[in-house]
Amino acid sequence: MTRKVDSGGKLVVVSGPSGVGKSTVDREVIKRTGAVYSVSATTRSPRDGEVDGADYHFVDRAAFEQMIQRGEMLEWAEVFGNFYGTPAEAVQKAVESGKVVLLEIDIQGGLQVHEKMPDATFVLIAPPNEDELARRLKGRDTEDEKSFCRRFGKAKEELKTATESGIYTNVVVNDDLESTIQKVVTIVNG
Ligand code: ADP
Ligand code: 5GP
Repeated sequence: MTRKVDSGGKLVVVSGPSGVGKSTVDREVIKRTGAVYSVSATTRSPRDGEVDGADYHFVDRAAFEQMIQRGEMLEWAEVFGNFYGTPAEAVQKAVESGKVVLLEIDIQGGLQVHEKMPDATFVLIAPPNEDELARRLKGRDTEDEKSFCRRFGKAKEELKTATESGIYTNVVVNDDLESTIQKVVTIVNG
């Protein structure tokens, strides 16, 4: 699979630290571009309002491990003590049918996709500064104190890994939401 196949389909990988605004941006980009969201599998419990099959495929650890063993994952990683992975078949079918597929995955996953598909488009969403990232993560009100510390603590390390990897050639600082959305729309349509 390449970034642009004959069908016109392509893969766009969006990564960035927890709380930076990836879901908020991606939801709107999808509405404006017709790109499709790759629904990941995860062993994490659903948050209030999350819908199985739409936000994630919520599975237990045994089912997740089976998917890995059957070679069904395009990539997978352990993030904050839970497993997350991208089921390959849905992505493959959508790209082959000419769709732009958006993967919202962590940097470990981004690196694995890059190994397999170096021609995909890689977008890093970065926070304007640390204080604002903390505010957003707290403001979302989905994490307890322990989970907040874990997610916030990992942000710096993730940004460093992403920058040093050199694969994220599109870096968008999510300061003003609307301009971030427009920049990502331009990248997706490009
Ligand atoms: P992620 O998917 O990266 O974990 P979310 O999309 O859940 O992050 O966003 C975390 C919080 O930050 C949400 O409450 C969201 O409304 C808010 N947010 C996202 N982008 C911005 C922005 N540009 N300015 C202010 N708040 C934002
Ligand atoms: P959350 O629990 O906030 O939904 O996601 C936590 C982290 O896991 C985020 O950085 C998110 O991008 C990442 N993530 C979500 N789905 C996948 C996936 O399929 N693969 C990988 N590698 N990371 C994922």
